[in-house]
Amino acid sequence: MDKPLTDPQMDPSLGRSQDAHQSLDPEDWGAFRAQSHQMLDDMLDFLEHLRDRPVWQPIPQSSRAKFQVSLPQQPQSLASAHQTFMQDILPYGPGNSHPGFMGWVQGGGSPVGMLAEMLAAGLNANTGGRDQMPVEVERQIVRWMRELFCFPDSASGVFVTGTSMANLMAVLVARTVALGKTVRKEGVWSAEKQLTAYTSVEAHGCVAQAMDLAGFGTAALRRIPSNEAFQMDTDALRAAIQTDREAGFQPFFIAGTAGSVDVGAIDPLNEIADIAAQESCWFHIDGAFGALGMMSPHVAPLLKGIERADSIAFDFHKWGQVQYDAGFLLVRDSTLHMDAFAAPVAYLRRETRGVAGGSPWPCDFGPDLSRGFRALKTWFTLQVYGTEKLGTIISQTCHLAKYLKQQVIQQPSLELLAPVALNVVCFRYRDAEISDTGAINLDDLNRDIVADLHESGLAVPSTTTIKGQLAIRVAIVNHRTDQRAIDTMLHAVLQFGQARCSAAK
Ligand SMILES: *Cc1c(COP(=O)(O)O)cnc(C)c1O
Repeated sequence: MDKPLTDPQMDPSLGRSQDAHQSLDPEDWGAFRAQSHQMLDDMLDFLEHLRDRPVWQPIPQSSRAKFQVSLPQQPQSLASAHQTFMQDILPYGPGNSHPGFMGWVQGGGSPVGMLAEMLAAGLNANTGGRDQMPVEVERQIVRWMRELFCFPDSASGVFVTGTSMANLMAVLVARTVALGKTVRKEGVWSAEKQLTAYTSVEAHGCVAQAMDLAGFGTAALRRIPSNEAFQMDTDALRAAIQTDREAGFQPFFIAGTAGSVDVGAIDPLNEIADIAAQESCWFHIDGAFGALGMMSPHVAPLLKGIERADSIAFDFHKWGQVQYDAGFLLVRDSTLHMDAFAAPVAYLRRETRGVAGGSPWPCDFGPDLSRGFRALKTWFTLQVYGTEKLGTIISQTCHLAKYLKQQVIQQPSLELLAPVALNVVCFRYRDAEISDTGAINLDDLNRDIVADLHESGLAVPSTTTIKGQLAIRVAIVNHRTDQRAIDTMLHAVLQFGQARCSAAK
């Protein structure tokens, strides 16, 4: 006969009394529901009236101070935590949801994505693996991305934080292809020849970081010069590979960029694909924001050759407008992808029945085991808006960039600093009188103008350096950014520029 189960609640050694069970669910679901609705309404109000707010504002010391207190031991009401959020967090975000945000390369998110995030949080799926519909949703996104990029059915994909992580993973896949699976045990120093990788000088810093993190070191990454359109010079790429081969290195990885971070340039992808094929190198594309331009009939032709990549890293959270974070790595050959990451361990054993079924799992395609349900907000965004609408928004950001470029060219006190390939415009303020006398350093002036803009709450562009000159960099990514937002930014640049110059005269 079975032994009767002992009741742990009766076990005095555990120090628990009869009715000791605690959970984190509310005692009064009715009151919790009312509070929940209030919180949802507040966020809908926030999004509906975003335009009436400053893009960004400095954080008051009183708000910072509320987050420098000791660890709470006693409970506090949800309503008071929410009030703190409304007072001290919500008004002091980075501003990237706002139409006036044009800094760096950041997406605006969408109301649909926000709701999807709530649903995903309610379900709280751990999508590392197992037989569950959320993993099936992620596979739907993989299938859709194969379709978008004309990749074969054998291609695999996986959600990660962002393109920085996806680029690192691509380097690791290419490393395993170049050196064989034993590299996972022996390490990269077991290679007969030192491996070298190639990218353009315009590439994002995370490509070099990927070489660092993968153990090759940033010196093993050759930075190929770019042409006047800021695209990789493919003759220089061929020459660099040749030189390295002659010197006894083993070229293994070429990273093209589709939408460069500084100016939005797209490398000659077809030519790089040819070179990678001839040189038996892995052809990776950093398409962080640019790759999803495939949804826009106006941008897609510029991306010709992307379908030939061995892997593409990109972000749904930039031009795709999906809530942060939603990076993605697409790999042409799923076997090679898995070879770099899958590991047999007993506690992750796969079965043919039950929750432990459904192999392969997302954890076989990257370093993450526990992971959230990023696929849901992406699925909702694609499902509800469709690629036509999202593509139109991508085209719209490019049209706005063209509009801004025209305005800059027409203004005698503004100077365009780089060609406008997509949605990024780099320019600077210059005052003819002032720069002639040298009374003001133009780099300092433009840096100050950008800080003035930020603090005014009118617009948030960022800065970069183009050919040694500090540029005001406007990257139009957000679906909310319209001509009015561009005009507001431009007028403010002219005003702050004039004010600073007349003060200096
Ligand atoms: C944004 C960006 C990255 C980095 O992507 P994260 O999602 O921020 O990690 C890499 N490359 C380019 C071209 C980018 O624009």
